[in-house]
Amino acid sequence: MGSRTGLDLRLMYFTSSQKPLYCDVSTGIVRPCVTKSFRRQIFNIHNLSSPSVKATQKLVAAIVVWKNINKDCTLWCRSCIQCQRSKVIRHTMSGVGNFPLPSARLSHVHIEVVGPLSPFRGMTYLLTCVDRFTGWPDAFPMPNQSADTIERAFLLGWISRFGVPEKVTSDCGTNFQVIFFLLFQSF
Ligand SMILES: [Zn+2]
Repeated sequence: MGSRTGLDLRLMYFTSSQKPLYCDVSTGIVRPCVTKSFRRQIFNIHNLSSPSVKATQKLVAAIVVWKNINKDCTLWCRSCIQCQRSKVIRHTMSGVGNFPLPSARLSHVHIEVVGPLSPFRGMTYLLTCVDRFTGWPDAFPMPNQSADTIERAFLLGWISRFGVPEKVTSDCGTNFQVIFFLLFQSF
């Protein structure tokens, strides 16, 4: 087996177990030969950051060996739900605003004011709203970015259709708090 696979397997004893374990020593690093029942568990280090198939193979093969290790890793990477969802090779986490995911749609809305933009029919700003649960985006034109205007745009654009969200957040912060305090008082 050794010459065909390039592995140099030795039976080794570890303090944690009385049973000896076949390990490959061909790379200078002791890599235990993993039995079928433990392979998937070891592959799960992929879940930490969902690296690419190649990177996952490298990661797993750096610490253990088994027959068809690359094939198994490829298969499991392809069935990884996280990887499927993102449809990118590596998951990128947004650096801005780290809010826990809401449990229901339209319960948590994230809003931002964009502008000033080149005027169109007197409108120079946009109020953008994104439902955190579904990712549903919307944008409402505004003539300015005063508290009154934002309140009105949010009321007529979003709340009139989707109702009052439980939570509203914004990366712009402070001024929105005042607005929504006033807004929710009127309900
Ligand atoms: Zn993944």
